[in-house]
Amino acid sequence: MTDTILVVDDTPVNLRVLTEMLKRHEFEVFSAPDGPTALDIAYAEGIDLILLDIKMPGMDGYMVCERLKSDERFSDIPVIFISALTDIDDIVKGFDTGGVDYITKPFKFREVLVRVETHLTLRHQRQQIEEIRERDRQYFESINALREQFIQTATHDLKNPLASIVGYTGVLESYNESANDDTIKSAIEGLRYGSDKMRILVTDMLDLLQMESGFQLYYKPIEINEFVRQCFLEFAIAIKDKKLEFVFAPLDADLQINIDDKWIGRVMSNLISNAIKYTPEQEKIEVVIERQNDIILLHIIDSGLGIPTEDIDQIFDAFYRVRRKSHMQAEGRGLGLSIVRSIVEQHNGEIYVESELGKGSRFTVALPL
Ligand code: ADP
Repeated sequence: MTDTILVVDDTPVNLRVLTEMLKRHEFEVFSAPDGPTALDIAYAEGIDLILLDIKMPGMDGYMVCERLKSDERFSDIPVIFISALTDIDDIVKGFDTGGVDYITKPFKFREVLVRVETHLTLRHQRQQIEEIRERDRQYFESINALREQFIQTATHDLKNPLASIVGYTGVLESYNESANDDTIKSAIEGLRYGSDKMRILVTDMLDLLQMESGFQLYYKPIEINEFVRQCFLEFAIAIKDKKLEFVFAPLDADLQINIDDKWIGRVMSNLISNAIKYTPEQEKIEVVIERQNDIILLHIIDSGLGIPTEDIDQIFDAFYRVRRKSHMQAEGRGLGLSIVRSIVEQHNGEIYVESELGKGSRFTVALPL
């Protein structure tokens, strides 16, 4: 990237000589004959370094420098003062106002160039450090937010089912001859419900933690049609219970694809179970496999509730749920899709969704062959 330098000098010949010399060295150069023009250019042009004459009529170099340094947006632009060799006091004052260096008149081109390049390098390094810091800060913020939500979820949503498990266990313990079968049956149902809920939540939370801290994939060649068929078999009862029409469109010919079947199985289960969960009775669900050159597309399509446009960008974020009554009626914690996205990205794949509220959704997983 070309660096942009602003040269400020009220002596036309100095201005021209410096400008031309720097242009020859591939810099983009702006020139200003006085302080106010210099400030206008500095504010407007995204300057990387300023060569600034000290003695100018009206607004002198110190004033220009002080103005810039007092504005946070421009305070990190390095300013190199230009001064006559004899004016040592000027140079000291230049440092006091925020200058980083000085060059003396008459110029030696080599010296000007070395100083300019040194300060540009320092500026770039400072910017890189700043970028890394910012990235780290954002990373820690997101980890912190995730941690907070983990704690919140664990306290609320694990405590309730645990309390019901403990409660129903008590019912069974105090079982005696007088208790009838219905009491036992409902206690066992309660235990099953509470422990299932906890199992799903604990699995999701631990999976998400594993993804966040990096996990190892074990690739192996998998016959894709058969693999996907196995994925939806486990939902046969749920599909029947909701009287959903289910369509499976495999590839015409058998094809092997290198995946970690355990994790891609998790992707398919999550997407199919969502399709079932967010689709009213008697509607339709389709699972379609498609090949496009070196990519396999897995489409999970439903004619269910759909997703509002304003939520689409966030549904892959951990703990995000569509806050509509229709959607909130289904059990969930907003963890499934964030796990799905991590797994797909680990496979160098992509996941995207098209959806219309009230019409349905199409989730597509694209995996490289
Ligand atoms: P959850 O456990 O809440 O289902 P997910 O991460 O799997 O968590 O999904 C996040 C949210 O995206 C869901 O809460 C739901 O609002 C929305 N969503 C996911 N899949 C569908 C779908 N097929 N149809 C409509 N909304 C969906």
